[in-house]
Order: sequence, then structure tokens, then C-alpha cells
Amino acid sequence: MAAISTAHAKGRVMASERPPFEFGQTIYVATAQAFSEDCVPCPICAGKLHVTLTLGDGTTTPVGCEFCAGGYSGPKGYVTKHGPSSSVVVSTVTGLTRGKFFDDNGWHVEGTGHVSERVSAGNVFDNEADAEARRGVLHAAAAEQSRDNFESQFKRAKGKTTWTVGYHRSCIKDLERKLEWHRGKLSAGRVA
Ligand SMILES: [Zn+2]
Repeated sequence: MAAISTAHAKGRVMASERPPFEFGQTIYVATAQAFSEDCVPCPICAGKLHVTLTLGDGTTTPVGCEFCAGGYSGPKGYVTKHGPSSSVVVSTVTGLTRGKFFDDNGWHVEGTGHVSERVSAGNVFDNEADAEARRGVLHAAAAEQSRDNFESQFKRAKGKTTWTVGYHRSCIKDLERKLEWHRGKLSAGRVA
């Protein structure tokens, strides 16, 4: 019972807090995302469309690059890399909601230009300089995120290429075994 009345009292105190912004006020919202698309040369084949496979006897043979190959179209020599992008959106407050819908019971601000932000996320400011500083922080985090994504994609692709090399090697080994077997048959025939 004591716990309930404490929570009730706390709710009343919070409900009396003034909104952090006013209707019609200009706000600056920092945003960043890790998935802005960018075309870069293929990091596996460097745009050459193939990688070189070295056989056991030292001879080399080109193998089509799998990393930049898309479906049936074959290697393209470039890949789509997801990089960071960020901006400060200038907006005008059109809505302020006290968040009984939000975990932290905080304020939610809505503004022109599809702005919809939880104030507690710390991305909404009443001046551009603070928003720019925040954008820098968000951009760095997004850059790290997209670098991690690309590195794991690259690592997976190298694993796949290794698998391809292994596959070709095992085919060659198998054919060499067969060749030896057939040659054996011929020389046995000659002896007979
Ligand atoms: Zn490639």
C-alpha cells in the first residue's frame, strides 16, 4: 500500500513538470544512421571481376568473384557498402506528449518534417550548436556500426571464397585420381 501511494505521489510530481519545449518553438534534432548506401570497388577482387586461384602445381587460373556477383548477372566489380550519414533537422514543435506510453514517463516531441522524438533520447535541442555536437557523437557511433557490419560481411565472403577454392581443389584431386586410374588401365592393356 505504501509502495502504491509513493508511486502515485511520484507520478503527480512528474506530471507537474513543465514541458521541455513550447508549441511553435524552433528545435534542432540530431540524427544519424548506419545504413546510407554507397558504391565502392569490390574489396575481394578490386574491380577485376575475378580472383586468382593457384593450383597445387603452381599454375594459376581465374575464378569469378563471388563477393560482387549478384544472382545470375555475374561479378560487377563493385559492391554496395553501407556507411554512416547524419544531419541536424530544423523543425518546429507541433506536439508535446507526456509519456504514459513510454517506459520512462518522459516527454515526446513532434515537429514539422516528420520529427518524432523522445526527449529522453537526448537528440532534441533548442540551439544548433548543441545539436551539431550531438550529431558528431551519433555519427561516430553509426560509423562504427557500419564498419562492423562491413567487416563481418567481408570476413564471411572470404570464408566463402576459401570454400570455393577448396571445392575446386577437391574436384581437381578427384579428376587426377580418375586420370591415374584410367592411365593405369591403358598401360595394363598394353602389357597384356
Ligand atoms: Zn568482386
